[in-house]
This record gives sequence, C-alpha cells and structure tokens, in this order.
Amino acid sequence: ENKRAINFGAGPAKLPQSVLLEAQNELLNYNGIGISVLEMSHRSSDFGKIINNTESLLRELMNIPENYKVIFLQGGGSAQFSAVPLNLIGLKGDRCADYFVTGTWSAKAAKEAEKYGRINIVHPKMGSYTKVPSSWTLNPSASYVYYCSNETVHGVEYKSVPDTKGVVLVSDMSSNFLSRPVDVSKFGLIFAGAQKNVGCAGVTVVIVREDLLGKALKECPAVLDYGVQAANASLYNTPPCFSIYIMGLVLEWIKNNGGTAAMERLNKEKSGTIYDIINGSNGFYVCPVDESCRSCMNIPFRIGKKEGDEALEKKFLDGASKLGMISLKGHRSVGGIRASLYNAVTLEDVSALAAYMKQFLKEHQ
Ligand code: PMP
Repeated sequence: ENKRAINFGAGPAKLPQSVLLEAQNELLNYNGIGISVLEMSHRSSDFGKIINNTESLLRELMNIPENYKVIFLQGGGSAQFSAVPLNLIGLKGDRCADYFVTGTWSAKAAKEAEKYGRINIVHPKMGSYTKVPSSWTLNPSASYVYYCSNETVHGVEYKSVPDTKGVVLVSDMSSNFLSRPVDVSKFGLIFAGAQKNVGCAGVTVVIVREDLLGKALKECPAVLDYGVQAANASLYNTPPCFSIYIMGLVLEWIKNNGGTAAMERLNKEKSGTIYDIINGSNGFYVCPVDESCRSCMNIPFRIGKKEGDEALEKKFLDGASKLGMISLKGHRSVGGIRASLYNAVTLEDVSALAAYMKQFLKEHQ
C-alpha cells in the first residue's frame, strides 16, 4: 500500500509532500536537460542556477544583510562544532570562547571546542536541561559566544537572543531554522543542518558575517575554512548537490506558504495544541521543560509519572504506530516520547496526534 505515515521524527524529518513530488517528477530529467541533479557536474551552469537560487531564496526569507556570506557545507552540524572554533577562536589573542550549555547539542559543541582553546561555560551548571539561563557572566577576552537556539533532544528553546554586549554571537539553529523570523544582524554566525526544517541530510548552511572570514587557525582544514569556502562560492570541493537542490525546493515551499512569519504562527499553534493537552492532563503527561522555554519544534514528554512509566509509554508508541504515527520515541539518552513538529508537519498531522493523546489519556488515567 502506498499510504504515507505521519512522521514526527526529530531529523531526518518530514518533508512537504509537494517537495517530494516535485523532486520525483524531476528526478530522471531535470528541467529538460536529459540528466538528473544527482548526475550533474557541480561546475555546470545548471547546477550554478540551482545553488544560486537556493542562496537567494534563503537571503530573501531571512532578510540576510549584504555583509553576510551564505555557504553550503558537508559534515553536518557536528562538523560545525569543530569549524566554529577552528575559524573563530583566534579572533582575539587568548584563544578562548564562551558557551551556553543548555542541552545535549551545546554540550557536544563545547566539548569539541575544548580541543582548540579555553572554553568557559557562562552560567552556573544546569542540574537538568529544562530551561535557559536568566543570567550569565561573559569573559571579556572571549573571541565569541556560542549557544544552541533549540535543543532537539531536551526541547529547550530560546525565545529571545541572548545579549552579548557586542561580542560575536554564534548560534546552532539546526532544529529551529526558518521556524520563525530571526534578526540575522545580531549574529556573527548562524549554522543549521538541513535535515530538520529545510531539507534532507548532507548539507549544512552557514551564514557568516564577512569581517569574520580569513581568521581561521592555520591548522583549520580547507574544507572547513569559511574564508576558503566563501571565496569559492561553496565550490572549493564537490558540495552536496542534491541536498542543496532539495533545500531550494523547501525554501520555495516556505516562501509560497507565507515565509517565516507564517511558519511561526503555525508552529505556535501546533505546539500549543500539544502543550495544552500535556498541561491539562493532570500529571498524566509530563513535560519537564520550564514553560518559558518550551520548544515549538521538539516536545519531549513522559507518560504516567514524572520519570515515565515505560510499559505505558511503549503502549502509547505501539498504538500510535498502528494509527500511522511514527518516530515518536524520545531520544535514547532521555527516553519517553518526543513529538517533533517541524515546518512540514501539518495542522492535520498534529490534530491526529492530539486526538490520540486525548483518547489514550481517557483510557489509562
Ligand atoms: N545541532 C543540533 C541542534 C542537532 O539537533 C543536531 C542533530 N540532531 C546536530 C547539531 C548534529 O547534526 P548532525 O547529525 O547533522 O551532525
């Protein structure tokens, strides 16, 4: 049977149906040129049009100022955990940087950065990853300040941009990229893996202010050097061509659906529906995250009791799967349930989950 599942995966994640159909339609013969994008030279004029189109859509959707470069890289968000310090930690003489650690992904980034310099965690250690800090102390000689705007595993999302008093700000936006408007001019650098909100795995987009280029440590690999990649328009080596093409189709879809402001409205409505059910469940569904920073993208919760009743959670997942709702299992490090509601997840998808959660609550509370 050809029926598609309702995919609540954290990434790789659901893509808009129209994007998949368009890619399918063009797979064998792109734009009448007789070959697939999968078979095309990255130096061809046809691919040039694809990458330029992807970049200009992104510039338009995010209102990216002229003095920022957009580059498309391989290696995932994880390669950026190294690339960021390799490029930026030498901005000031001391080779040190400030990190906010609010979940798995910023913790990993900080650990990787320690290979290249002195890393200062700017707030008291979080006992659990359930909120963002409300106060912090920055190190005046830090080359940059780093934070993850949405922690995919823990469901912790910053609702505003931390003020770094002018120090270069770097953000991992992998899991909430283009889910809401962002003022790019507040950042030195933004990066995001595509496989959650803007496409498929293989490409990571980096938006970097021009004055930060050309300052990489001498041991920085050329493929990770933002200056080298920007000077070569992301074609220093073979880029992930097909992933860049898919990103272009997704960006077109976002544009046709009202851009980031419309995405934000929809994402608030979607996540609000699920959080309302959790809040109204009398402790049957438990989301540990502080209400002030609950993610609109990834909603982690436990069932039955605070630390989760695993048998009940398994029953929930099995029942969901029978209804065609998949990839709701929490990250292996935290257990429980996680519903990821990226841009491509529709209100109808969320209504189906909401109805199931209400039914399950009625039957088991
Ligand atoms: N940052 C965040 C916020 C993520 O969610 C992930 C992956 N889930 C990564 C970085 C790492 O991305 P990748 O697996 O593409 O290296």
